[in-house]
Amino acid sequence: MALIFLAMSYADNYNTILKSIPPHVTLIAVSKTHPIEAIEEVYAVGCRHFGENKVQELLLKQAKLPKDIYWHMIGHLQTNKVKSIIPFVHLIHSVDSLKLLSEIDKEACKHNKVQDCLLQIYIAKEETKFGLSKEEVIELLSSQTFLDFRNINIRGLMGMASFTNDYEIVKGEFNNLKTIFSDLKKSELKDSKSFDTISMGMSGDYNLAIEQGSTMVRVGTNIFGSRYYPNR
Ligand SMILES: *Cc1c(COP(=O)(O)O)cnc(C)c1O
Repeated sequence: MALIFLAMSYADNYNTILKSIPPHVTLIAVSKTHPIEAIEEVYAVGCRHFGENKVQELLLKQAKLPKDIYWHMIGHLQTNKVKSIIPFVHLIHSVDSLKLLSEIDKEACKHNKVQDCLLQIYIAKEETKFGLSKEEVIELLSSQTFLDFRNINIRGLMGMASFTNDYEIVKGEFNNLKTIFSDLKKSELKDSKSFDTISMGMSGDYNLAIEQGSTMVRVGTNIFGSRYYPNR
């Protein structure tokens, strides 16, 4: 894989993936660790959805790049960092607690904004992944605290599959997320019209995720190449 992508530009990689996926699926270019120039190259061929997983990096990039970019916060979000991203962030994928939602609601209110969010669901076997269980989501959505929010719109769910080459395991996890989504959409818990987003699928598994019902894929490595982490 790496060799194929090495020969192509980021823009070519982006276009190739975009052409290969159905039009109802949003392709988010995950630009974490990659420089401004790399983002500009993909922006120049029409990409407007970019994803970052660290608030500090997101702020630096947002300040330097065109204002019509839709920024997706896909990494774990701490309550004390919410304030800085609310003025511009398009969609927060990683909401995993009522406390975090309260803070988002408060800050969004200050900016006269209804903030689109996804609830992150724990679907993988790994201990390290963040997210809520189905039971926790139901509890959250039926709580009075949640029902009182005026500046939050829950658009759907996000999940990350186990880091494994076992196709059946990953498929089962994506299927599980899709089932939770469908059950919630049918239930009385949510204003279901705008509950329309399933964010699942990364470089290694986005085709499988789309087969299982994903409407939004988060692709980094297959567009920008592998990431370099100086301190690891
Ligand atoms: C880094 C990251 C991605 C992209 O991963 P790739 O395997 O490089 O495509 C997707 N989602 C989340 C939450 C990430 O942190």
